[in-house]
Amino acid sequence: MNLDSSPIAAIATAPGRGGIGVVRASGKNLQPLIAALFGATTLQPRHATYIPFRQADGAIIDQGIAIWFRGPNSYTGEDVLELQGHGGPVVLQMLLARVLEAGAELGLRLAEPGEFTRRAYLNDKLDLAQAEAVADLIDASTEAAAKSASQSLSGAFSRTVNDLVGGVTNLRMLVEATLDFPEEEIDFLEKSDARGQLAGIVTALETVFRQAAQGALLREGLNVVLVGQPNVGKSSLLNALAGNEVAIVTPIAGTTRDKVTETIQIEGIPLNIIDTAGIRNDDEAVDVVERIGIERTWGEVGKADVILHLLDAAHGPTRDDEDIVAAFPDGVPVLRIWNKIDLSGHKPSADVMPDATHVYLSANEKTGIDLLRAELLRIAGWQQTGESLYLARERHLIALKNAGVHLARAGEHAAQNDQSLDLFAEELRLAQVQLSSITGEFSSDDLLGVIFGRFCIGK
Ligand code: GDP
Repeated sequence: MNLDSSPIAAIATAPGRGGIGVVRASGKNLQPLIAALFGATTLQPRHATYIPFRQADGAIIDQGIAIWFRGPNSYTGEDVLELQGHGGPVVLQMLLARVLEAGAELGLRLAEPGEFTRRAYLNDKLDLAQAEAVADLIDASTEAAAKSASQSLSGAFSRTVNDLVGGVTNLRMLVEATLDFPEEEIDFLEKSDARGQLAGIVTALETVFRQAAQGALLREGLNVVLVGQPNVGKSSLLNALAGNEVAIVTPIAGTTRDKVTETIQIEGIPLNIIDTAGIRNDDEAVDVVERIGIERTWGEVGKADVILHLLDAAHGPTRDDEDIVAAFPDGVPVLRIWNKIDLSGHKPSADVMPDATHVYLSANEKTGIDLLRAELLRIAGWQQTGESLYLARERHLIALKNAGVHLARAGEHAAQNDQSLDLFAEELRLAQVQLSSITGEFSSDDLLGVIFGRFCIGK
């Protein structure tokens, strides 16, 4: 990947047609680019200028708005030039090509994915958790996820983490000072209330972890696999849960040939539902396409957070159902769902049994669907607390957890009175390193590559 500091440009808007489209450039000094594009017309920083965008030979590509943000007052912290034209893929490609040509002497090149945001991070416009929140806001699949992402983007998560870092740093300073002046070491822990301070930090960390873990649910969602015999009502259940028609519902066995992934939401948590090809084992009825569908199904089942095993309440389990159950991977929770209770006469219910939780419902009549939703939320670990959540990533959760481990060890050393103050100090330092990695104070290039490489180009 080319990540030198030369100026970069890219189309910043999503591919496809739109009312407007934006080509964006960023570099330490874009004045020569502006001069090459617009000749004698100068742009005032942060002013919108309506202006023709021209080819080198003077032919007009488009008319639009040019805005120049003079560094450091810009998204990236460098000079940024935004050309807002009409949002057609061809016209934007022409405009981008023209910008690259006009900036050739400056060394202007096409931006790598996430490179604008990476520069914003490197120029201290955003910390790492905020930069991640940019991508998460763009990718948010529910309103609750978008809210939490903008919460993190505004710096709320970073501030909370920085408060924790501040608390740890304070305590470290106290301990380190005592280590430097051993004659004052006696009764240090008592006098400085170090244990009380540590307990306060641990409590605060637990709160942040809880908010982050709930927020992570909003980001990742739950992978739900629907399995069951053909015609048992998988497509109907998916539709009942989703509230719109996504799968083809038909009484002909084996029509749902391939997996259908649909993201629906329950209380803002995305559920990635994988409806599977009807699994059946009578060989003569199974053709090649269907066999591939069946193999894929089992591939998905192994990766799921929960398996919904759909059964017919009116007919009871078949031999094939027994085969399906036997093939379930260990460790993935299973919800046994008895559908078509309108035919069987069961009441809607959710019963916890030794083998699994059994839910009785009717996809067609939409009775018992709420019980299933509540069960899914329980499995997801969702607790409605009303407190604001941070759209955290796995990386953040691991860092918070590791910090907690170091703080717990620090607590053990503190319990030894003043004999192991140096070990106490070392654990505090390790906790601080973990916490600081969230906002990117100590981050390796590898980590930055992973984080920014997942952005779209132009972001
Ligand atoms: P799939 O093959 O498992 O995806 O099953 P479908 O969703 O296509 O449903 C098969 C048939 O069962 C359709 O005719 C549905 O209308 C019917 N069906 C699904 N759910 C119910 C239900 O709760 N009650 C009744 N009576 N019929 C249902």
